[in-house]
Amino acid sequence: MAEEGVKKSSNFIREIIKKDLEEGRVKEVVTRFPTEPNGYLHIGHAKAITIDFGLAKEFGGRCHLRFDDTNPSKEEQEYVDSIMEDIRWLGWEWGSHLYFASDYFEKLYEWAIYLIKQGKAFVCDLSADEVREYRGALTQPGKESPFRNRSVEENLNLFERMKNGEFPDGSKTLRAKINMSHPNINMRDPVMYRILRATHHRTGDKWCIYPTYDYAHGQSDAIEGITHSICTLEFEDHRPLYDWFVDNLPIEKKPHQYEFARLNLTYTVLSKRKLLALVQKGIVSGWDDPRMPTIAGFRRRGFTPEAIRNFCEAVGVAKANSTVDLAFLEECLRDELNKKAPRRMAVLKPLKVTIENYPEGESEELEISNNPEDPSYGTRKVKFSRSIYIDRDDFMVDPPPKFFRLAPQREVRLRNAYYLTCTGYKTDEKSEVIEIMGKIDPATKGGWSPDGRSPKVTIHWVNAEDCIESEIRLYDRLFLKENPDDVEEGKDFLSNLNPDSLKVLKGCKLEPSLKDAKLGEVYQFERVGYFTLDKDSKKECLVFNRAVTLKDTWAKIQKKR
Ligand code: ATP
Ligand code: MG
Repeated sequence: MAEEGVKKSSNFIREIIKKDLEEGRVKEVVTRFPTEPNGYLHIGHAKAITIDFGLAKEFGGRCHLRFDDTNPSKEEQEYVDSIMEDIRWLGWEWGSHLYFASDYFEKLYEWAIYLIKQGKAFVCDLSADEVREYRGALTQPGKESPFRNRSVEENLNLFERMKNGEFPDGSKTLRAKINMSHPNINMRDPVMYRILRATHHRTGDKWCIYPTYDYAHGQSDAIEGITHSICTLEFEDHRPLYDWFVDNLPIEKKPHQYEFARLNLTYTVLSKRKLLALVQKGIVSGWDDPRMPTIAGFRRRGFTPEAIRNFCEAVGVAKANSTVDLAFLEECLRDELNKKAPRRMAVLKPLKVTIENYPEGESEELEISNNPEDPSYGTRKVKFSRSIYIDRDDFMVDPPPKFFRLAPQREVRLRNAYYLTCTGYKTDEKSEVIEIMGKIDPATKGGWSPDGRSPKVTIHWVNAEDCIESEIRLYDRLFLKENPDDVEEGKDFLSNLNPDSLKVLKGCKLEPSLKDAKLGEVYQFERVGYFTLDKDSKKECLVFNRAVTLKDTWAKIQKKR
């Protein structure tokens, strides 16, 4: 369960619930996370989940997980499974309260008959295009369907025959009879049922008519005794319709809907349709590609559930739409990992160093702290010998004024080991440095000198003899523009893709203890960033993903403001 103690931002829904409880309108808070199993959950859903599950927990109530599975053509079991896995990973649990709108198909069908009998629903023969055409526009009333005044008997007969499969797909619908000139278009005789021969992931081929989301959603909440139906602002205009159904059906306990602003993130798309396009076009490797804003993607990238929950708490719940900086999400992760991630050493761009005054064939074990700030992380033993690797970027033959790392005749500290002075280097035919030579000061074992001198810079290293090979994947934002939907005419969001969102480094060298790394563990590679093992790892070559850099881009952004 989510931790207490995280600073809770303002949340107007919390105030509403508090009042409902204080004034006795509600005895037990029941919320739900309603989701269509037509894609993987993303960071926006994490916000909704934090609100739905978080408020229920805060007030001692419960939160249901409900799949609004009314559209069999887009829904799949794979999505159901991934959604459950992701919510649990985030730290929430629905217990026995797992529901499917498809469990209510029978009840919804009965209620449709009830509305027909009340003269409040009718079977309509207009095609989908015609229904759209008759609907009118915001400033223009709609036109009544010529089938609107069928008798109750005829409607009952036709609706039953729709259910029995006597009519082709799309040839008829059941519609609510409300008001074709209602200012709210959702109230203009909306479709309740359509004919669709598609195998449903749970009900199989039992039904060939399916309720619309709008007809199923509010009643599903009512059936489950939801007290606070919390959703995003785009459903505000649907609320009068949900209320109309519930008011016109024999339902006693009515749910109340409250809308909050969706989460938007810079450099990110959060629409399942667009995320699906990225997957289907092979632009990313799957829903869990570490560049995806999905929970599965963040997990694979090395995000922790705490970081995501803290982020969701921190952005708060408001009525006005806004866009949150992607850098802020990264900062929440950095915050978390800085406290938690054990330290290791890894060299991404290896450059060999031969330590000329270290005896050939000998080595020693250095005891290194797994987290210098917290002794409870313990220590590990790392071998040191005549031959090590440092990062290519930590050496320059002819360093400019502000470069304080290794250069000929200069001394640096090798992290946790010795002071090293560069005594020479070798180049290849293209004058590229391929190896450097140096000597250590044996009196500086452990990385400090008894004479008090201290090099300006500490660099990391790995021992050449026993280090392990690895592939390292560096990720950057998937889109070049803050708003990926900001496109030139005739183009779509894909025209804003960042061609450098993934950089793969091969031949990286890791200290041997990383052999034991497990999926889900995140390490700080000293001076480099935070990394986690990827599922593509093989015994001969481990693959690590960069979760986030060490660099504090967020602090820089804040300073600029
Ligand atoms: P689509 O993007 O295709 O419209 P959706 O993300 O709205 O789909 P659902 O599975 O129905 O799909 O969403 C589940 C819940 O998550 C809904 O209650 C919805 O309001 C909420 N939700 C969806 N996107 C966001 C978001 N960006 N921020 C906060 N909540 C969201
Ligand atoms: Mg939606």
